[in-house]
Amino acid sequence: MTLKILITPKSYKNYKDKNYPLLTAAGYEIIENNTGKTLTEDEIIDLARQDVAGIIVGVDPLPERVLKSCRDLKAISKYGVGMDNIDLDAAARLGIKVKNAVGSNSVSVSELAIALMFEAARRVSVMSAGVKAGGWDRVGGIELTGKTLGLIGCGQIGKEVAKRAKGLCMEVEVYDPYFKEEGFLEEYGVKLSASLDELLAAADVVSLHLPLNRETRQLINSRTIAKMKKSVILINTARGELVDEEALYAALVSKSIAVAAQDVFSQEPPPPGEKLLALENFILTPHTGAFTAEAGERMALYSARNLLELLGH
Ligand code: NAD
Repeated sequence: MTLKILITPKSYKNYKDKNYPLLTAAGYEIIENNTGKTLTEDEIIDLARQDVAGIIVGVDPLPERVLKSCRDLKAISKYGVGMDNIDLDAAARLGIKVKNAVGSNSVSVSELAIALMFEAARRVSVMSAGVKAGGWDRVGGIELTGKTLGLIGCGQIGKEVAKRAKGLCMEVEVYDPYFKEEGFLEEYGVKLSASLDELLAAADVVSLHLPLNRETRQLINSRTIAKMKKSVILINTARGELVDEEALYAALVSKSIAVAAQDVFSQEPPPPGEKLLALENFILTPHTGAFTAEAGERMALYSARNLLELLGH
């Protein structure tokens, strides 16, 4: 019997020429996701119920129910970084090894965070759309120079954002209770905030770069929003569920924050009629932070190598 590897991310096919041979040379047959969409739990079970030793997974759901149903599964390799779609506790209990592609997309996501910050500050796409529709209306903006960028989470992506923001003549403060790299703070002139509230009070732009887990779900809520400046720009390229979207809606409508620009949403794509999408001060891109040629190459290669390593090759 030939063991198989299920590859779920749609975009992995762009990198198949380089990476499939790594997997087939190790003796595996490859099962692709041909639905053109993120797989559902049942679709994963149908494809991986038996003989599938490894999964290279995108954002498709891997809760305990799915992991238990895939009886030959030994390893999961994340095509990306955030592992909130995988029940890590269940995987550990079931002896399924898990690894993510650390650092594969940090430059791309950091560049998108900066792009969203400029979009929020200068509304480039809004004005361009207006001009293309026959208008010539300017939208007033703000300068970013001299403003304080507050980063919540300063890992691979947060650090790349910090370096770029310093290059833009911004002040940078970070809140990250697990941060230990004093040298980074000194080298780039970045301040470590003593508390989340201190960071929120100081920041002109708040950008989220932390994982979604039990501790961080809805970290941005009516209480934390109330600590922010009314003029604040909120950037979220991390995960939608980090933000209480009801509280965000209320804050954007009442202008108790200025603009929110996100690459992620609690439900992707958002449901029809989602009320946040109707607000002119809410910007949303379709989870495209890592969707660059360079990050794609790295995610495909790192995830293939990681899977083989987890499977003992
Ligand atoms: P990372 O693990 O390198 O960094 C995460 C940082 O968050 C760490 O420094 C950690 O100490 C910190 N952190 C953890 N809990 C915290 C808390 N309660 N408060 C403040 N900081 C906390 O991960 P990364 O590569 O920088 O990625 C960050 C997140 O970005 C991922 O978890 C993922 O959800 C998201 N992401 C999104 C995209 C996209 O396409 N939009 C792509 C990659 C990653």
